[in-house]
Amino acid sequence: MTAVRDFFRTFLLWELLLGLKLTGRNLFARKVTIQYPDERAPQSPRFRGLHALRRYPNGEERCIACKLCEAVCPALAITIDSEQREDGTRRTTRYDIDLFKCIYCGFCEESCPVDSIVETRIFEYHMEERGENIITKDQLLAIGDKYEEQLARDRAMDAPFR
Ligand code: SF4
Ligand code: SF4
Repeated sequence: MTAVRDFFRTFLLWELLLGLKLTGRNLFARKVTIQYPDERAPQSPRFRGLHALRRYPNGEERCIACKLCEAVCPALAITIDSEQREDGTRRTTRYDIDLFKCIYCGFCEESCPVDSIVETRIFEYHMEERGENIITKDQLLAIGDKYEEQLARDRAMDAPFR
């Protein structure tokens, strides 16, 4: 009996009809795919992408070299050196993040008492040369300067939940 059924199904293209039935069912359904990169999925203000170091509006860097972010980082991705400035304040002389080690957990951002180290919405970046995975203080500050408006807006939106 099974052999007879298979015989007729072979000539009736039964599997093809089953596939077309599934296609027909989804033909007019709401589309869930997007044409990236021309179309973008919405991003949360809590998105955890590439890092940045922020400044105060007067241009002073926020980071006070407390090293909480370095201590909390589970991947040991952050390396900080610091020294005291002439005005008695403490600032970092080195702030490196190894992006190959980072797992984008956001702990550094959570631990920072002055909202200095943050994670941006940037997720499209790459490295071409050996060593470019280490992002330096100057690079982090430059990213912070460039995206400060967005960073401040995202922090303000998230503030009621922190
Ligand atoms: S996001 Fe997590 S893993 Fe990456 S540097 Fe911050 S604390 Fe470390
Ligand atoms: S980024 Fe924040 S937590 Fe890290 S050393 Fe600077 S002030 Fe401290």
